[in-house]
Amino acid sequence: MEDQHIGNVTCPKCDHKQPMNIPSNSCQTFYKCNNCQEIIKAEKTCCVFCDYGDRKCPVAHGGTK
Ligand SMILES: [Zn+2]
Ligand SMILES: [Zn+2]
Repeated sequence: MEDQHIGNVTCPKCDHKQPMNIPSNSCQTFYKCNNCQEIIKAEKTCCVFCDYGDRKCPVAHGGTK
């Protein structure tokens, strides 16, 4: 299913939820919020999905599966 690679990332500045594609073999370390136009960077973890998303990236799950 296509939506297995979509994660909702919540902007820490304005609380806007934004669906984004989760890359399967790399980490997305920043994104731009569509609402407040801020560039949000992951600081605590490997990527914005692990930091702010409702779904962890495949890389954090150990690579396979
Ligand atoms: Zn925002
Ligand atoms: Zn991650």
